[in-house]
Amino acid sequence: MSTLQLKAVQKSFNKTTVIHGVDLEAAHGEFVVFVGPSGCGKSTLLRIIAGLETATDGQVMIDDANVVNVSAAHRGCAMVFQSYALYPHMSVYANMAFGLENLNVPAEQIKQKVTEAAALLRLDGLLERRPTQLSGGQRQRVAIGRAIVREPKIFLFDEPLSNLDAELRVSMRAELRDLHRRLGSTMIYVTHDQVEAMTLADKIVVLRAGKVEQIGTPQGLYDSPCNTFVAGFIGSPRMNFIGREVFGAQPIFIKALPSATEQIGIRPEHFHLAPVSAALTLPLTVTHAEYMGGTQLLRGTSTNGAQLEAVLPTATLVSVGQTINLTFEPDIVHTFDAAGKRCA
Ligand code: ADP
Repeated sequence: MSTLQLKAVQKSFNKTTVIHGVDLEAAHGEFVVFVGPSGCGKSTLLRIIAGLETATDGQVMIDDANVVNVSAAHRGCAMVFQSYALYPHMSVYANMAFGLENLNVPAEQIKQKVTEAAALLRLDGLLERRPTQLSGGQRQRVAIGRAIVREPKIFLFDEPLSNLDAELRVSMRAELRDLHRRLGSTMIYVTHDQVEAMTLADKIVVLRAGKVEQIGTPQGLYDSPCNTFVAGFIGSPRMNFIGREVFGAQPIFIKALPSATEQIGIRPEHFHLAPVSAALTLPLTVTHAEYMGGTQLLRGTSTNGAQLEAVLPTATLVSVGQTINLTFEPDIVHTFDAAGKRCA
């Protein structure tokens, strides 16, 4: 059983506080993803867990023991870096074995662990190669293999797929998910890519400027974002935020919303082309249309000049310059108050 708990973790560099009291928990075997824009403190938080950085205040609990005074080498965490951090002059086998050799693990055991990890990661045939003779995806697998052989309590991943091309990122994402299922280990993963967070996580921690904005399952965050920041960050294309004045012609719809509502959030994929009989509609004069096969992404101008995006099926193709009527189910809208907080 390996659990992780952060309690009121703070971090300052000189006099600048970059982590402002973070509390969170990872259950045994959970895949937790830290996501947020660049500079929000994801890597710093991960490095604090690893012991590569010291928290200014607060506690880091691994399996219920506070480890803030335990060195990185003795925390039982293994970190996989974006840059792979492989030794170029060593073979794949030697790269994977190196950490265990340092711990004086008997050679027979090392061989067994490296062989098992290599099989798990489909590196069997590549053990004699040097990192330069591998593709990006294979190098990243070696870096992951090096973590696996140490049998860590907790795996830490710092944007491990960022250096891979788009196609490889998608397949490595699936591999990581599969690996997590097979190993059943607790994993903490940092990314700025919300799609990666949505597809990998059991639990997502959304960070902004060193604070936790919301913690939840991918579906929980998509369905009930706690504020406009999370609503805008999770989901692609981004949610539309529409002022209530845009719905001037729909008093019944507006009246049914919580009274504090200032902005109405509608995801692009929740719009439909309105049938003539639809009561609840918004006009869209299309300024930009992207055909994507099964769907089309439309951007344009609505009432009061509001800019909206809609994702519609391609059964009826819409072109630039056309004005269409969009409709939506009233119960899929999100409502936010003047401070950007979700209304009840
Ligand atoms: P992220 O991983 O979300 O992009 P980081 O954790 O790298 O963000 O950085 C969070 C903030 O802390 C940033 O403002 C960054 O400039 C600052 N920071 C990170 N490391 C240091 C450091 N060693 N010294 C000073 N400031 C740092």
